[in-house]
Amino acid sequence: MHAARLDRVRAAMGEQGVDVVLLSVGPDLPWLTGYEAMPLERLTMLVVPRDAPATLVVPRLEAPRVVERADVFALRAWGETEDPVAIVAELAGRPGRAAIGDRTWARFLVDLQAALPSTTFGKAGEVTGPLRAVKDAAEIEALRRAGQAADRVAAQLQGGEIPLVGRSEAEVSADIGRRLRAEGHQRVNFAIVAAGANAASPHHEPGDRTIAVGDVVLCDFGGTMRTESGAGYCSDITRCVHLGEPPSDLAEAYAVLLEAQQAAVAAATVGTSCEAVDAAARDIISAAGYGDQFIHRTGHGIGIEEHEDPYVVSGNRTALAPGHAFSVEPGIYVEGRWGLRLEDIVVATGAGPDPLNRVDHGLVVLDR
Ligand code: ZN
Ligand code: ZN
Ligand code: ZN
Repeated sequence: MHAARLDRVRAAMGEQGVDVVLLSVGPDLPWLTGYEAMPLERLTMLVVPRDAPATLVVPRLEAPRVVERADVFALRAWGETEDPVAIVAELAGRPGRAAIGDRTWARFLVDLQAALPSTTFGKAGEVTGPLRAVKDAAEIEALRRAGQAADRVAAQLQGGEIPLVGRSEAEVSADIGRRLRAEGHQRVNFAIVAAGANAASPHHEPGDRTIAVGDVVLCDFGGTMRTESGAGYCSDITRCVHLGEPPSDLAEAYAVLLEAQQAAVAAATVGTSCEAVDAAARDIISAAGYGDQFIHRTGHGIGIEEHEDPYVVSGNRTALAPGHAFSVEPGIYVEGRWGLRLEDIVVATGAGPDPLNRVDHGLVVLDR
């Protein structure tokens, strides 16, 4: 699996004229090796020359955590008195073009630029992004398991198992986070809980507002679930519940949102452009008169990162391929009053769009 990914990286390097890829902290390294670099002042870096074996350069004290993979990389542990930048520079050879991980700390890039003065540096994301966007079977299974775990928490919310009335948004957010962990996530990435008018802000920070009957409560949450291969994969779901019967204007808007979200999911077939999926949702919302209230793109790719390629947005002509995994999450936000969003993760497959989130898509009415 990792060896196959390395082959794909080398092929892309050849196409793009990249001589060496250098990966440190960030998602590319666990995707390629199963190992996640410690975010330390001590350098960890995978050196992938196009025509020579790859080497993982790690601080000696981290080496016991690395499982060496002869088919993927050799291990080069460096001691406290060695210069890791010089080691990387030597392993890199004399590259004309290097592509360095997008999240590598600037201090290491600055030192590498000094050590390799004739090398042009670009972003490794340009090599790995399109490859990572297309998930293999193991990755889709990992996303499915994370999605099912998030669905179980959403079902608890919709089933009234998570008390809302009288608690603050922050308390409910912490509760959802605990449940994500209990359902198998190692890390909670976010748990937005936005009640009433706060829901009109798509990335509302849950605060001390007390939730009351009459509120819509928008919950958008997700975390990372580790796999046996080492890398973790993300979940991301949004459901809204209403405390007491919703007012008719809100219920009508929700019906439009639901229709738009389902239309965009149905549109997400192989060969369809990302912007056409965005338009499938946006056209329905605009036709109903809420176009100005849908203030963000329809979705984002998801994998090791919560947000990655491909982005479901106007202007992105990328055609969906089997294995593309992304969110479909239109919203309608009425400032000062309420906000609504509905989000599933979907995988494009040859047999049609495969939604990983299956929990009830309705505006569930609760009384407590
Ligand atoms: Zn978001
Ligand atoms: Zn979300
Ligand atoms: Zn999302």
